[in-house]
Parts: sequence; C-alpha cells; structure tokens
Amino acid sequence: MNYDRILIRYGELSTKGRNRKQFITKLKKNILLVLKEFRDIKIELGRDRMFIHLNDTPFEAVKERLSNVFGIQSFSPVVRTDQNIEEMKTAALELVKRNFSLGKTFKVSARRSDKEFELDTNEINYAIGSHVLRNIGELTVDVKKPDINILVEVRKGGVFLSCEKYPGAAGLPSGASGKAMLLLSGGIDSPVAGYLMLKRGVEIEAIHFHSPPYTSERAKQKVVDLAERLTAYGAEIKLHIVPFTAIQQKIQEQVPENYTMTSTRRMMLAIADKIRQKRGGLAIVTGESLGQVASQTLESMRAINDVTSTPVLRPLIAMDKLDIIDVARKIGTHDISILPYEDCCTIFTPPSPKTRPKLEKVQHFESFVNFEEMIDEAIENMETIELPQEKENSEFSDLL
Ligand code: ATP
Ligand code: MG
Repeated sequence: MNYDRILIRYGELSTKGRNRKQFITKLKKNILLVLKEFRDIKIELGRDRMFIHLNDTPFEAVKERLSNVFGIQSFSPVVRTDQNIEEMKTAALELVKRNFSLGKTFKVSARRSDKEFELDTNEINYAIGSHVLRNIGELTVDVKKPDINILVEVRKGGVFLSCEKYPGAAGLPSGASGKAMLLLSGGIDSPVAGYLMLKRGVEIEAIHFHSPPYTSERAKQKVVDLAERLTAYGAEIKLHIVPFTAIQQKIQEQVPENYTMTSTRRMMLAIADKIRQKRGGLAIVTGESLGQVASQTLESMRAINDVTSTPVLRPLIAMDKLDIIDVARKIGTHDISILPYEDCCTIFTPPSPKTRPKLEKVQHFESFVNFEEMIDEAIENMETIELPQEKENSEFSDLL
C-alpha cells in the first residue's frame, strides 16, 4: 500500500468566511503552477482540505516545491481506506511496519470530521493502537513524543492515514489579497520585500529601472533571475523593465548633485505609480529599511513619497540588514543578488547625497523640466517579461 495522494491542510484561509472559495481556488492554481511539470497529478478541492492525487508521481519529487507554496499549513502523503475499522487497522499496521525499527515508540492520532462514523476518536485510537501492538510486540506507546505518529482522518469520503506530516509555508495564497507593484532592484533587499508580500497573499508585478548603456544586459538578466526565483512561491510574476537612462541624465543636468538621489527616487516612484494605475495595482512595495542608506532616512522618505498618495508598503522598514540577509539566503535570492553587476543607482550615486532633503527644494529643482513627458515616454517603451518562463523540455529538444 503506497501513498497515492497528498492531504493539504489549509492555513489561515480556513477562517476567511465568504472569501474561502476564492482563496481555495487561488491556492489550487498556485499549486498547479509550481507542480506544472508533473502532468499526471490531479487536484480535488474540499472545504477544509485539498487532495493532490499523485497518479504514480513520487511524493518525494513534489514535496519540496509544495513546502514553498503560501496558504498551506501542513501536508501529509496519505493512503485511503473506506470507513471500515478493519481496513483502517490493516492500513495503519502496514504504514507502521514500513517505518518501524527496534526501540521505536508510536501513538495514534485520530481526527473525525464525519461525526456519524461509528467510533469516536478515543475508540479509533484504541482499536488501531492495540492492533498495531498485537502485531509488533517490540513497539511501545509514547503519547508525548512518539517516533511514529499514525495520523488517521475520518472524513465523509473515506479515511486517510499517514505517518508523515510536513510544515507548509503558511501565509495566504498569492493573489488572494490583491495586486501590488514591487520595485525590484538587483540588490538583496527588494526580493525579500517581494517574498514577504507574496506570503501575505499579494500578487506582485515587478518594475525594474534599467539604464543602458550604463547598466549591462547582465544586470538586467540578474533581475529577471530574481523575479523568476520568486515565482517558486506559487506565483506568476510580470516584470516590467523601464528604460531610465534619459531621465537619469536629465536629473544629472538639472538637479544639484546632492539632490540627484532624491529626485531619482521620486521619478522611480512616480513611474511606478503610473504603471500601477494602468495595471490595476493597489499599492507599491519597496525594499527600503530605515537608516540603511541616505535615501532611507525618514526625511528622505517623506520627500520621495510626496509624488503619490498610493500606499507605499515597506515590509523591511524595521528589519536589520543581517536579518534581511538571512531571509534572502533562505529563499534562494541572496546568491543571485550578490552578483557584481551594477545597477542604475550605484552608477549615478553622488558622493554625498542629502540625508535630510527638503521637499520644497527638490520640487523647485524639478520644476524646470517637463518630467511628465519623459515619464510617459519611458512607460511607452517599457518591456514586459512574463515569469516563470517556459523551460524547454529537454527530452523533446533532444529529438528536434
Ligand atoms: P536593494 O537591496 O533592494 O537594492 P538597497 O538597500 O540597495 O535595496 P536602494 O538601492 O537605495 O537600497 O533602493 C531602495 C529601494 O528602491 C529598493 O529596495 C528597491 O525597492 C528600489 N529600487 C532601487 N533601485 C531600483 C531599480 N533600479 N529598479 C527598481 N527599483 C529600485
Ligand atoms: Mg540597491
């Protein structure tokens, strides 16, 4: 008897009342997305549980990817029996035999969502536990910290048994909380900010400002790779690459050196907000963290934020750099982020940017240029890349 399906326990979304159906549908879509190369799997939706029918796909092959998907509290590979205590006993014994070695302890944890089943949870625990003990004499019971925990879930559609339970990524399924635009640089911080918003169910469209020839194709590819990496968390991500050279050059010409940084950020935010409007986003997300660099003081943020009344979400604002780096490592973006290709801000950064810019001053400096027109032109010329990109199927490409 092999595990032939995976039982998924929902996270917070079980408590979301009327939105439940939408949440479950998003979760299904996101699971299918990360498992799309496993063509044989099928998903069965339920009110408080979801089943992935493996159809001969090995559980081990999908386990890691599944553990990245937001909205899953935990999951177990399971076998199914009918609501028949003899069948349940036999299945449980087989599972234990597979995991058994001398000196191990066990317990049975039954759960009954179908209250019409003839035995209550204590009776199920007892019936299965004593059957296992009768057949494997060397096993002992430990209800606190057993080596083997036999999970038995009695549901209307059958009984599901497992000796394994894995934690999910928790959070909410991506897309369940609306859409936001992520300002994605090639640095360490902004991918982490994107990850944290995805975890709260926000659908992300990323925006990257690119300044050729000052910034290279490789710098752009790095951002594509970062966005692609974020799709591992059960999301499709559109990445908009905005040509920013002309605006940066104009700022260099027109704005006093110590204000170029403030002005550059304001233009980025203004452009992001226009794209947001067109794309139906509700907020803008950045990787800013208080005090990290000159543009991230409260005075700077106020002067920059002035270009829009759209909520600007800064999930890293109170995090220390080392903690951000820890998350970046965990989510697999760190090693991409530290590749040395320069980003447009690094190249144009003045030697001593204002840490306490005055809003009135920056507004005055900008008033001599028609930035509106330049902003529209940049947006017209932006390139959009849809991620994850289709990978070529190597089996077939060999044959071509
Ligand atoms: P990061 O590691 O995310 O680059 P950082 O500490 O280097 O952050 P800055 O470079 O000052 O800080 O950028 C602050 C935020 O502005 C970034 O987190 C990102 O959201 C946004 N940003 C900076 N440069 C770009 C860019 N070229 N394209 C898009 N967004 C950018
Ligand atoms: Mg940066």
